[in-house]
Amino acid sequence: MNFSYTPPEEAFRNELREWLAAALPLHRKEFPPSDDELVLHPDKSFESSLAWHRRMHEAGWVGIHWPREYGGRGATLIEQTIFTEEMIRAGAPPGVNTIGIMLVGPAIFHHGTPAQKRERLPKILSADEIWCQGFSEPGAGSDLANLGARAVEDGAEFVVTGQKVWTSNAHRSHWCILLVRTDPGAPKHKGISCLLVEMQSPRITIRPLVQITGDAEFNEIFFDRVRVPKANLLGRENGGWGVAITILMYERMGLGNLAILHQFVDRVLALARTTFRNGARAGADPLVRQRLAQVLIQSRALRLTGLRYLTRQLRGEAPGPEGSVLKLTLTDTYREMAEAAGQILGPAAQLWKGSDWAVDAGRWAFQSLFAMRFGIAGGTSEIQKSIVGERVLGLPKG
Ligand SMILES: Cc1cc2nc3c(=O)[nH]c(=O)nc-3n(C[C@H](O)[C@H](O)[C@H](O)COP(=O)(O)OP(=O)(O)OC[C@H]3O[C@@H](n4cnc5c(N)ncnc54)[C@H](O)[C@@H]3O)c2cc1C
Repeated sequence: MNFSYTPPEEAFRNELREWLAAALPLHRKEFPPSDDELVLHPDKSFESSLAWHRRMHEAGWVGIHWPREYGGRGATLIEQTIFTEEMIRAGAPPGVNTIGIMLVGPAIFHHGTPAQKRERLPKILSADEIWCQGFSEPGAGSDLANLGARAVEDGAEFVVTGQKVWTSNAHRSHWCILLVRTDPGAPKHKGISCLLVEMQSPRITIRPLVQITGDAEFNEIFFDRVRVPKANLLGRENGGWGVAITILMYERMGLGNLAILHQFVDRVLALARTTFRNGARAGADPLVRQRLAQVLIQSRALRLTGLRYLTRQLRGEAPGPEGSVLKLTLTDTYREMAEAAGQILGPAAQLWKGSDWAVDAGRWAFQSLFAMRFGIAGGTSEIQKSIVGERVLGLPKG
């Protein structure tokens, strides 16, 4: 592993740092940061994130890993890492359309027709078209290939009937990348196709699902004979599993992005420094210190594992099981951090937004519940453990 950066990489960092130093104060003037931003008021934070996204897009900082021909910067993996580091360092808010930029764009440039590339890609980057991912169903989550939503050919269209579930941001999306079964007679991985579906199409019903945090960030979607032009087939008919694999590969790479954890660790450390109990700083309590040190060690070890993952990719090697190790440890470390905040604050950590005594507008109570998502989204911890057990430890299957 080489920890130093080349002069062009340092120049890239400086260019971004200078842009952030000028652009962020302007954004903050328009959307003053509030302590509960990002997690407690999703609509307010969406509006702010959208405005920030558009500012970044105008300056060419959205989808930097996309090839230049599709509007990206063709950034190297190292530049992407620098980008993430600088965004965290500056405390910049995230943009929007993560699924569009992280998953749908790459799927379209690997599998799309020239018309699909021309029409969809620029609007994904600008967030004029926001996307959701219609993969999971009530009977197909970990076993995704078991999906049952059907698409039947009818002239120049497919007619789609079925249900999707846990679809993040479906209520804000203009388009959905949808997996459907087109050949029920074929072996299950071989009868699936991928469609690009306009969410405004007649006979689509979106129902919000309220999460344990009280927010309704994801949804159920019902398709009742929804007509989709055949021109919106992505990849080959019955070749949808290949498209899904491309998407899941990019999703796993995105999950290896530890920015969200490092930001959270910084906030909990600041909490330990600024919280006083019986006249003493919470961070001076040996039990709190021990716990924070342990979690900090885990988060540093994770960063190094992330760099090892990067090194493999730079050497052109196939992604190894580091993705699963990263996801598992991120899940545990995030949850332990939320527990550490509880230890620092004591019973006040449980007070929810709306209470006059809630610390930081209820952020910590929220985080203790929010932390649970990481063990489910993008492949559950049990599935990740099976991957590590079978591929790294050589344990027998099942
Ligand atoms: C915050 C969040 C956002 C999401 N966003 C989206 C989205 O935008 N689009 C989308 O398509 N999906 C989305 N999902 C769905 C997510 O991909 C699924 O929840 C996940 O794949 C698990 O599937 P499931 O919920 O059907 O659980 P199941 O697969 O039914 O699993 C239930 C339990 O059984 C265990 N289990 C299942 N199979 C095995 C096995 N072989 N070995 C051991 N244990 C097993 C699981 O670990 C789990 O504990 C989201 C989920 C969350 C939490």
